[in-house]
Amino acid sequence: MLSDLTFNELQMYVEKLGLPKFRASQVFDGIVKGKSLDEITNLSKEIKEKIAQDYPQYKIIKEFTSNDGTQKFIIEFGDGKIVECVLMKYKYGNTICVSTQVGCRMGCKFCASTLNGLERNLSAGEILGQVLLVNRKLGGNAKERKITNIVMMGSGEPLDNFDNACKFIELVSDEKGINISQRNISLSTCGLVDKIKLLQEKQYNITLTISLHASLDEKRREVMPIANKWSIKEIIDSCREYFDKTGRRIYIEYTLIKGVNNSEEDAKRLALLLKGLMCHINVIPLNSVKERNLLGVARSDAYKFVEKLESLGLSATVRRTMGEDIEGACGQLRNKILKEKKDDRTGC
Ligand code: SAH
Repeated sequence: MLSDLTFNELQMYVEKLGLPKFRASQVFDGIVKGKSLDEITNLSKEIKEKIAQDYPQYKIIKEFTSNDGTQKFIIEFGDGKIVECVLMKYKYGNTICVSTQVGCRMGCKFCASTLNGLERNLSAGEILGQVLLVNRKLGGNAKERKITNIVMMGSGEPLDNFDNACKFIELVSDEKGINISQRNISLSTCGLVDKIKLLQEKQYNITLTISLHASLDEKRREVMPIANKWSIKEIIDSCREYFDKTGRRIYIEYTLIKGVNNSEEDAKRLALLLKGLMCHINVIPLNSVKERNLLGVARSDAYKFVEKLESLGLSATVRRTMGEDIEGACGQLRNKILKEKKDDRTGC
């Protein structure tokens, strides 16, 4: 697909088709602006026919706006697969949360994205497409970007789709493209230590975010199967190395699950584990997933947990929950849409 290509790669593609090089600029411009092939006006019908099968087919098929202004978009790809992406509006700009896979195979118990396993990886250009489509929807283009920040925190495990996630980072921060600074991109992982090491070698300026969610391995294993492969210590050690190599502060996601990881002892253990690591902890009350019987905590308890962490010398905040009324947490809305699609087909 053409949105997978850098500008130079697109030039080679165009030449292979026997077209003059300048056509690459026109096609590239259309892609970066999030246009469909039909909407590009300076290409002839013949040229469009030649590139049609490779031109991105993705489109926004549904959108929802939450009472707090958060927007959720359902994006459909050429093969009919759908993912969701979320747009959060802050004072300093607009952050988009993109999906990196259709479904997920990590199996975290609290996460709706993983309920049906992994369907397929998204290509770099399909991850990029989410940014380009939403940027366009907001009236932006390549020069006047409406999206300032990206979090790779939607459905999927980005490091389980390593090459495409990396190429996405390169494409989206490319000066010739939409050119979003790597400093404004966060990649969130459940902790694939071998891949964290590979990522660090890339020397990107992105922020690494770790979904830790526990202070003891046995507790982590209860909710995150990946904990059978990598221990918390191995993850934190890889974070220390990542910081040493890149100088980028690490972010830790800690979702509070009632009775699993929210005790004072947990806070103390967490403080010990993270001692000396340049990091910030985002504490998030679990957004309960109907299909699982795990419960969140009251926001006031999340604040208490943060106070405890701060008293132990850590930097921590309670993350704003956004878009709760539109099934805000990872994968929830997509599951609802899929169910509706199925109900439509069965006539329910
Ligand atoms: N696979 C990556 C990115 C996707 S999940 C990762 O694990 O980091 C994005 C974040 O949302 C993770 O921190 C995940 O643990 C969290 N999350 C998923 N479901 C949630 C829920 N129901 N409530 C609160 N946070 C949730």
